[in-house]
Amino acid sequence: MQSTVWFTDLSSRPGKSLLDKTGEILRAAGLAGKIGQGDLTAVKLHFGEKGNTAFLRPVFVRKAVEEIVAAGGRPFLTDTNTLYLGGRSNAVDHLRTAITNGFAFPVADAPIVIADGLRGESAVKVPIGGTIFSEVSIGAEIANADAMVVLTHFKGHELSGFGGAIKNLGMGCAARAGKLAQHSTVSPYVDPANCTACGTCVAHCPSGAISIVTASALIDPKTCIGCADCIVVCPEHTVKIDWNEAAPMVQKKMVEHALGALRGKRDSVLFLSFVTQVSPFCDCYGNNDLPIAPDVGILASDDPVAIDQACADLVIKAAGRDPFRATHPSIDWSIQLAHGEETGLGTRNYEIRPL
Ligand code: SF4
Ligand code: SF4
Repeated sequence: MQSTVWFTDLSSRPGKSLLDKTGEILRAAGLAGKIGQGDLTAVKLHFGEKGNTAFLRPVFVRKAVEEIVAAGGRPFLTDTNTLYLGGRSNAVDHLRTAITNGFAFPVADAPIVIADGLRGESAVKVPIGGTIFSEVSIGAEIANADAMVVLTHFKGHELSGFGGAIKNLGMGCAARAGKLAQHSTVSPYVDPANCTACGTCVAHCPSGAISIVTASALIDPKTCIGCADCIVVCPEHTVKIDWNEAAPMVQKKMVEHALGALRGKRDSVLFLSFVTQVSPFCDCYGNNDLPIAPDVGILASDDPVAIDQACADLVIKAAGRDPFRATHPSIDWSIQLAHGEETGLGTRNYEIRPL
């Protein structure tokens, strides 16, 4: 069975802007058939951490909102709170960050509803019968929505190689308990040889798991929640992890949470992915480094596995190498796609339909 992935490049001309093309690709991919009259429609996106500038631009989100309204839906913008400390770890800070980053109602033309409530505890346990989990914890307002349009900024990611539609669904729709379950196998340690005891990791750790002991940082594995923040913020790159063990399991757990996020919405979901400003790390960080690949275009599909495979293939083709492997050499990003196929999330077998 082959899935269709719609594609448009980033060329435009007077009278046909990228916003026009965004509307066109949503209609071509069958948005109208996914949304019933009056459906409360979750527009799942990542509002970006404060200081990050690589996240999806609000004007594209507004266009998607317009198309959903035209199809009869009642859209709301949504995401779940983060595990790590930052600008999005509770609903109040999350709303402030979203508005700071341009997602105010007058801009996006839709209200924001944080899917897992004030502190990430508003969740629905969704039965999935996966190979790791029998049920997963999904943000209540995503689980309760009638339909969903998943807007993804496709970029590199420190735990899954790339962050695409599967990550947006699996990690992005999980409530706090679901995120903890996914991170539980990530257990970093500090190589004291290069540690300067600068304290950066201590300041960033959301669970207070790191302390400076005899001129070096030490991580308490019992307190660590596996958010991986310390790995990225360490200026000496001396926080290590057993990637062979951690990365495959995180990806598989993410896939199983994606199954939970889609439960009851298989016929009422559409994915729209923007392969632009392909930054090396997630938009969860308060900065974004230079892109690791050229801009490619906009893709749409109702299959999260197919659209991620297509995005990765197009990036590799445009870059002339695999920039995700080059940036995160220990991570095999294909594990999420393979597990997605094994568990029925979607297929890697796709056909590209250019607009
Ligand atoms: S020790 Fe590192 S991975 Fe563990 S909770 Fe702290 S920042 Fe996150
Ligand atoms: S951020 Fe890195 S160098 Fe600084 S204390 Fe932590 S492990 Fe050591």
